[in-house]
Amino acid sequence: MKPKLIRTIEAMRAYRESLDGTPETLGFVPTMGGLHRGHKSLIDSCRRGSTVVCVSIYVNSAQFAPGEDYGRYPVTLEADFLLCESCGVDVVFLPREVDMYPSSLVRTVAGEPARNPGRSEGSSRPTFFRGVATVVCKLLSLVRPADLYVGQKDAQQCAVITLLCAEFWPLTRVHVVATVREHDGLALSTRNLYLDENQRAFAPRIYAALQRALREFRGGERNASKLTRAVRDCLEKEKPQAFELIYVSICGKLDILELNYKVAIPEPSERAVLICVAAKMGDSRLIDNIELVLT
Ligand code: AMP
Repeated sequence: MKPKLIRTIEAMRAYRESLDGTPETLGFVPTMGGLHRGHKSLIDSCRRGSTVVCVSIYVNSAQFAPGEDYGRYPVTLEADFLLCESCGVDVVFLPREVDMYPSSLVRTVAGEPARNPGRSEGSSRPTFFRGVATVVCKLLSLVRPADLYVGQKDAQQCAVITLLCAEFWPLTRVHVVATVREHDGLALSTRNLYLDENQRAFAPRIYAALQRALREFRGGERNASKLTRAVRDCLEKEKPQAFELIYVSICGKLDILELNYKVAIPEPSERAVLICVAAKMGDSRLIDNIELVLT
């Protein structure tokens, strides 16, 4: 069946109210469109866990800084609807900019997440988490999902959303879904569309570098500087001109606080830890991460 298409806040509110008092459980997958198998995996998890599946498609201006790719972010609405239909989505919510950001005052309400996320995405894109937190606040207060599905590919975003939900929507369960990759390890991303052939050929090196660090960790290495060096070495060897490493960081999975690099990395049983990479490849900004686990 074709999903119901909702475009206005009023229609979304009315739809949501129609579920109140019924046994339906609403699962929600927020996206910026340009849907691919990574999004599909979130939608499939949502379909398995909820009686009503809602997907939003909205390119959130507030999370883009000036000079980033807001104006040229891929829009593939027809293909997105078809994918939603084939996955059994019940509702596609396509809010309009004027509804999401009716005044510049509202844009600042969500503020920065309370914890300073140190060197990683938080300082690389200083207004990014504020923009994400703002749109998630707006969407959740309208959609009121029982279950929310987010992707591990954006691990730092997952941590911010999980902390946000714990504080403001304690009734919403957050589910983090594993990263879906191409056959060569490249994490699927809408922004991969920007890569030319040479860039696409080098891009899987990011995951290969993360795996190398993981192998060293499993081999007993607990020195954070040595692990980030291993990632850097792998990425900076024979790199194309278009490739620029933005950061390699090691942080807590739940709080995204950077580790103190002078202290040994804790064992996975004590604290879940991620290695995160961000890189620029031509016009594309790529991120990936891997959890330091023993098996
Ligand atoms: P986006 O449309 O890029 O904002 O992503 C919407 C949701 O899909 C976010 O929760 C992302 O973390 C998730 N997502 C994006 N790419 C992947 C992937 N390769 N594997 C799993 N989840 C993903």
